[in-house]
Amino acid sequence: MQDYDVVIIGAGAGGLQAAIHLGRYRWKTLVIDKGKGRTFYTPTYHNLLGYPEGVSGAALLHQGRQQAKQFGVDFMNKIVLSMEKQGDHFLITAQRRKEVIEGSAEQIDHIRARRVVLATGIMDEHPDVPNIYHYAGFSVLYCPDCDGYELIDKKVVIVGRGNGGPSLAKTLLAWTSDLTVVNIDKEKPIREDWLAFMESYGIPNYTGELDHFVGEQRETIEQVVLKDGTTIACEKVFSALGMHSKHTKLATDLGAQVNDSGYLIVDPRTKETNVAGLWAVGDVVAHSQQVMIAMGEGAQAAIWVNKSLRKDGLPEASPAYSKTP
Ligand SMILES: Cc1cc2nc3c(=O)[nH]c(=O)nc-3n(C[C@H](O)[C@H](O)[C@H](O)COP(=O)(O)OP(=O)(O)OC[C@H]3O[C@@H](n4cnc5c(N)ncnc54)[C@H](O)[C@@H]3O)c2cc1C
Repeated sequence: MQDYDVVIIGAGAGGLQAAIHLGRYRWKTLVIDKGKGRTFYTPTYHNLLGYPEGVSGAALLHQGRQQAKQFGVDFMNKIVLSMEKQGDHFLITAQRRKEVIEGSAEQIDHIRARRVVLATGIMDEHPDVPNIYHYAGFSVLYCPDCDGYELIDKKVVIVGRGNGGPSLAKTLLAWTSDLTVVNIDKEKPIREDWLAFMESYGIPNYTGELDHFVGEQRETIEQVVLKDGTTIACEKVFSALGMHSKHTKLATDLGAQVNDSGYLIVDPRTKETNVAGLWAVGDVVAHSQQVMIAMGEGAQAAIWVNKSLRKDGLPEASPAYSKTP
């Protein structure tokens, strides 16, 4: 059994920012991460203070890990399988991806933590076409708040289900009027008022399943091809498919509350969930899904984790550890 003051689950932007703060408070901190979350596969952040030319998620994560390690934070590249509460402590089990895939019971780590910060994120639903990871984040986009500006005067095909497509089209009109909507689910027809909206803005719409995208360079999709052979000219695809998964289970298994959309509810000030000792930050929490918001929440959670731990004494690394605080 390994003992830590704080375990952070997830090393995306939210988890790493919390780790940097907690390391600097001198708490014994472990970050467990299975890799390749949303921060990792964002090719360029264009809206982050200090990076006028943009910065890739992979670069931020690399820098963030190095920075946290400087302050004594440990890292474990594993999947957290389960978490339970025993008295005031959390018992966490983690395993390497390889053993999880093989269904092996070997190499399981048991970790005990006084506090946990859950920063496990969410995952987008990708359009169901071959080679999607080649395009994802480059020419297949997911977040108007992030990438709307990059669409100025571009030819954009929106892929969605039912009213999701036209609703996103309304948002994207701020940047381009060259829009086409594809409804991939014929069981979910688009409502009359949305059809009238698209007609009034000259937005063509199709209903049909996707077959494949054509695009030599990952930055540009030249054509969207449907299963019935329809070919739609394009430069960027925008997904209105929403989220495939929200990684809340480790928290909800302990009784943490989620909102109607399935995101974790936290105290707005402290970021603690309704489970004492369990904090949550980043995209897994109900908020606007932006990298700097995940970072801000990571910092805020760390501040309150520190306050809560300090009620019980000083960090072991402190020179005054043996004295009553
Ligand atoms: C294509 C794209 C472009 C974007 N562009 C922008 C932009 O321009 N500007 C902007 O502000 N935001 C942008 N965003 C949003 C931004 O990337 C996210 O808000 C941010 O990455 C969220 O960080 P996070 O730490 O909450 O989650 P993540 O970065 O997803 O990290 C979660 C981590 O937890 C790990 N994890 C999950 N479950 C477990 C488990 N059981 N055990 C161990 N580890 C686990 C995952 O593997 C992952 O590494 C974009 C998102 C996407 C997808």
